[in-house]
Amino acid sequence: MLNKKTLVAIKMVSICLSVIVMALSGIDFYKHRNYKEPVVVSEYVTQVRKLSDYFADLKDTINDCNIYIFEGSEPGGTVLLIGGTHPEEPGANLTAELIVENLRVKKGKVIIAIRANRSASTVTRPGDAYPQFYHIETPWGVKKFRMGDRWSNPLDSWPDPEVYVHYPSGQLLAYMDIRNFNRTWPGKKDGTITEKTNYAFMQLIEKEKVDLFIDLHEAELEYPVISTIVSHQRGVDIAAMTSMILSSTEFKIGMEYSPKELHGLSHREVGDHSRAISLLYESPEPFLDRVRGITDEKLLLTGKDPFVMKAGQFGLLYEKIDENGWPIDVRVGRHVSTFLTTLEMWNEFYPDLTIDVEGVPRYKEVITKGVGYYFRNPSEVPKNRVFDE
Ligand SMILES: [Zn+2]
Repeated sequence: MLNKKTLVAIKMVSICLSVIVMALSGIDFYKHRNYKEPVVVSEYVTQVRKLSDYFADLKDTINDCNIYIFEGSEPGGTVLLIGGTHPEEPGANLTAELIVENLRVKKGKVIIAIRANRSASTVTRPGDAYPQFYHIETPWGVKKFRMGDRWSNPLDSWPDPEVYVHYPSGQLLAYMDIRNFNRTWPGKKDGTITEKTNYAFMQLIEKEKVDLFIDLHEAELEYPVISTIVSHQRGVDIAAMTSMILSSTEFKIGMEYSPKELHGLSHREVGDHSRAISLLYESPEPFLDRVRGITDEKLLLTGKDPFVMKAGQFGLLYEKIDENGWPIDVRVGRHVSTFLTTLEMWNEFYPDLTIDVEGVPRYKEVITKGVGYYFRNPSEVPKNRVFDE
């Protein structure tokens, strides 16, 4: 038996150790949440606005993200492209940023959000051993990005309900999906921060008269909706043509119909609640597979994993994987080429609403040069071209 004095001493030491561990991790969490990613906007940008310009309730909140607007010298159609719906899918925000840093619009208008749900990019999944940051090599040095989660940060939205009742359909969804930016469309004016953010984007779509809406994602190979374009029923002609052309020229990509009875997703609700045609792209991201091995930055960026490969050998996956993995350049390359081909098809179907762009590389160029090649050095441009994400 330990005597009373020894017991008290053990308790005191345990408390001190706990406080030290909490303080050290607290500092890490704080640094991650407040880390700013500099973006060098293309010299052809016409306006950089805030999401709160479309819904004032978001002003000074974590989700008041930048809205980059590129207008051509000739009128045409308007496309809104968003990255960062799920910040644990880096192929999405990297693609949106690559386009923002390189785009020139000749006809029509392109609007881009890099981090559509900023809150979810300020938290990771420590319990799943997620890295806090990832790093991309560029010709001028290493660029650092926040890794994020699928759901908004509980610091911004808490507590979750017992059951999440989707607005306005009334469909019952999993409780934590009230913080999932792709289960809360079309949003709610007086809802949670996530629902308000969707609502703000719906206001933007209305005010900017958006014709075409594109939501970028990545998916685990165990998930059937992968390497595909999911389309609202009003966009199936464009999505099917884009899939056919890319599959015969650059890489295989499928096309699927948005289910009519599954609510809260962008490809369903944006199409149902606005004039815009809505599409969602999925690239393969082995990091998200449950059977993965060591969950680190290397897996995030190379997409190489022996356990996921093993699952493939047993026929448990919906996408192929070999020792080459699914590197980030391939995943971003797929997204940029899908975006460019979608616009080409759009212009065929809607010649009165042409959207003519240049400056954005295609799949082959991105995998040859690497995504980092397309990011500019923030210390080499005038300050008014640098924005924080
Ligand atoms: Zn996603």
